[in-house]
Amino acid sequence: MGFNIDLSKNINYSEKIKLPPLEGGGIILTYRCTNRCKHCLVAASPERENRWLDKNAAAEIFGFIKNNSPGAEIHIGGGEPFLNPQCLLDIVETAFERGIRLSYVETNAFWGNNPNKYEPVLKELYKLGLRSILISVSPFHAEFIKPQTSVNAIKMVRGVFGYAGAFVWIAEFLTMLSKHGETQNFNIETMSDEMIRRAADMYYLIPGGRCGYSKPAVSMKRSAKDFFITNCGRELLSTAHFHIDAYGNYMPGGLCGGISMCDYKETGGEINLNDKPLLKILYNEGVKGLYETALKSGYTELADGYCGKCHLCVDIRKFFFNDSENNEFGELAPAEFYKTITDEINLKSQIL
Ligand code: SF4
Repeated sequence: MGFNIDLSKNINYSEKIKLPPLEGGGIILTYRCTNRCKHCLVAASPERENRWLDKNAAAEIFGFIKNNSPGAEIHIGGGEPFLNPQCLLDIVETAFERGIRLSYVETNAFWGNNPNKYEPVLKELYKLGLRSILISVSPFHAEFIKPQTSVNAIKMVRGVFGYAGAFVWIAEFLTMLSKHGETQNFNIETMSDEMIRRAADMYYLIPGGRCGYSKPAVSMKRSAKDFFITNCGRELLSTAHFHIDAYGNYMPGGLCGGISMCDYKETGGEINLNDKPLLKILYNEGVKGLYETALKSGYTELADGYCGKCHLCVDIRKFFFNDSENNEFGELAPAEFYKTITDEINLKSQIL
């Protein structure tokens, strides 16, 4: 009598996971943004719901973090937090009231040419105790934010917070972008394949969110089987860069945009995977298992391949989301992530 070849899989297939204490992460005030950056992991855009984290919900989130993971270092992001200065000020104030270690607020700096409105906001943030603003600079952002606008924002932040208060991520891109003209939006399609791949490497880009669909591709595309190497346990268990959004979704620290592992309040205990079948497969078998399950449900592999395992993962999750009536998969959240990417692909000549 032979062994059942599924035996070890059945024994080892985890049904529950427990996260370590939260180490560091971001609070997503909103998914609304001025930009539709091609690399965005959460598919933020001007079309996303105009929903913002409110002060009471923020107080609960910060209270939870303080009680369960007092050492966690938190930043505030989006979407674009400066689109709603009052919300931003309220949330930063609440974070400090709750004793949170708040490291920075992240922005695309769209406001760099408007000191009349935004310098007072920066001064208020500084008064509340904030000491750093992360200003994103990359070819992806520069399609929407002119380099000179970023430079003006950096100067404005330094004027209020001091030189070290402007954390420019990544400053080296300014040199490259300025060669194309400081006062023009950058067109990523003018970059050679090699340059865009180097830029993606410099930015430590993860091809999740809408990134895998962007043109030109951020990495050489490969067939699905080339990504069947590991499961996703490491990324899903990581609490090094988690996110909690305005809906209360906890997004894993491996930056898995569009995956809600649980409500953030469940992160202290055991997370049951039995009611999250796709997450359970990803945790135990990675994208290989997800791909095999999807094929059985009618998924067709993309003919031109994938930019990475997270692109494959997003494409399959999008398939399951669109294929199930009323999204039967609670882990595919927020639903608007999938609707946004699907709509953008349908309009790809205009957007991606
Ligand atoms: S493949 Fe999916 S689950 Fe795994 S790290 Fe990428 S986005 Fe997360």
